[in-house]
Amino acid sequence: MSADLVLRGGIVHDGLGSPGRRADVVVEGDHIVEVTSHRTSALRVIDCQDLVVAPGFIDPHAHSDLVHLAAEPAPFKLEQGVTTEIVGNCGFSFAPMTAAAIELLGGAWDELSAEQPVRPRGFGEFLAELEAARPTNNVAALVGHGTLRAVANGVDQELRPGALEEMRRLAGEALAAGAAGLSSGLIYVPGTYSDTDELVALAEVAAAHGRPYTTHMRDEADYLADALDEAIAIGRRSGARVQGSHCKVAGRRNHGNTAALLDRLVAARVEGIDVAGDQYPYTAGSTVLAALLPPVASEGGVEKLRARLAGVESRAKLRRLAESGAPATGLWNSLLPGDVRVVRHSDRRVLGRTLSDIAGADDAWDTMCALVRDDPGALIVLELMSEDDVQTIMRDPLVAIGSDNGPPLGLQHPRTWGCFPRVLGRYVRELNVLGWEEAIRKMTSIAARRFGLAGRGALLPGMVADIAVFDPQRIGHEGTPLRPDVRPTGMQTVLLSGTVVLRDGEPTGERHGRVLRPASVWDLAGTT
Ligand SMILES: [Zn+2]
Repeated sequence: MSADLVLRGGIVHDGLGSPGRRADVVVEGDHIVEVTSHRTSALRVIDCQDLVVAPGFIDPHAHSDLVHLAAEPAPFKLEQGVTTEIVGNCGFSFAPMTAAAIELLGGAWDELSAEQPVRPRGFGEFLAELEAARPTNNVAALVGHGTLRAVANGVDQELRPGALEEMRRLAGEALAAGAAGLSSGLIYVPGTYSDTDELVALAEVAAAHGRPYTTHMRDEADYLADALDEAIAIGRRSGARVQGSHCKVAGRRNHGNTAALLDRLVAARVEGIDVAGDQYPYTAGSTVLAALLPPVASEGGVEKLRARLAGVESRAKLRRLAESGAPATGLWNSLLPGDVRVVRHSDRRVLGRTLSDIAGADDAWDTMCALVRDDPGALIVLELMSEDDVQTIMRDPLVAIGSDNGPPLGLQHPRTWGCFPRVLGRYVRELNVLGWEEAIRKMTSIAARRFGLAGRGALLPGMVADIAVFDPQRIGHEGTPLRPDVRPTGMQTVLLSGTVVLRDGEPTGERHGRVLRPASVWDLAGTT
């Protein structure tokens, strides 16, 4: 009998951290049926001599929520070998959404919307819509705490009576419909207005469904240790697994202090709390320009933000707060204006330029305020980390790789197009920070387990045939902040559920992705 497809003679990595070995991978229908050193006949053979054959990569930290609803296919992740994205991170999901919440948020979340309409929809409805659109790669979706709060409580700091119960109800509904977990973004409005008790109450709902709590922590710079302690406390009190998003040590004065992050992860695990993290392989991050402001600036919605930024006195008051160095006062105090590059803004003249360049002889704070007023959804790429810290965090076995991509439009951070190939080319082949098997484990089985993606993340008989084949001598990404959207090199073949969707480095254009609803808490027993 002949199999459907054989990937012949590559160095096969199982994604679990075992060393690679030369073997054939045999695919029948949408599954892997055999990994063997015996020659097998097949209807179709793909020669993988000198290539690495790995499980398709799983990106635990994506912001592609609405990308796959567009008319055109979006192969920017397949080109990196990514077969599954987990969207809805940092507290931002586009469901459940109401008309009132959309109005209050104004354009503040526009940079994540991929030019798709943001409209009222339930979570189950969103997943069904995504399924009908047929994503270009597989997608699993988190429900965002910021979204739940905007829907139940608007953009107010204080919780209204009944709002927390409403958020818990909506979270439960989303998780029952197939949300892969609960995310928070504790520097963003309105998620930043929450206290620990509120987050515990919501993480309990995730825990009851056997799903994780992922968090863009309250601080990644001067108060990183406190912020991680809070995330760990939420895990301890709620029983939810905790995923620290885009782990970093931000702010020049904190560089070198990776112990604040990594020692805490280990101590919590010794205590029995299931906490881990993910990371993107760059010293620069990316976020909205408004994240430089103290969160109180945005209280009450985007129109109130504009009014505060227009007033000379309110602007000066916000500046004093931003420069006080107190917790929860925005990113301004961790940066120099020359570290901040505007990459998305309604005024095209400022694109690609740093804040100090745009300001010229004018005051950088006032220039920043004017830019936010004109476009509250403006996006920036900003220098935050040291190269040594990026490598130290990468060596930690608890930290997976996640891109934190934006929609693949315009001048995004190069991670959108190149995160995974960059890890393999620069940090494995060139710098030897990781071995191949460890890097591949960080891109596959870790995320599959943490997010309950049954049948994926390992290259073994019986698993779904999501597979990435690449040339270890050529894999890489040359994107830069001013030219980020170049295609990675060295990714040869990608299979999605047994179908070839990238051939000789070229996407076939087929939309073959699925919406993944995680295994239930009962199915997961014994596997996490
Ligand atoms: Zn984030």
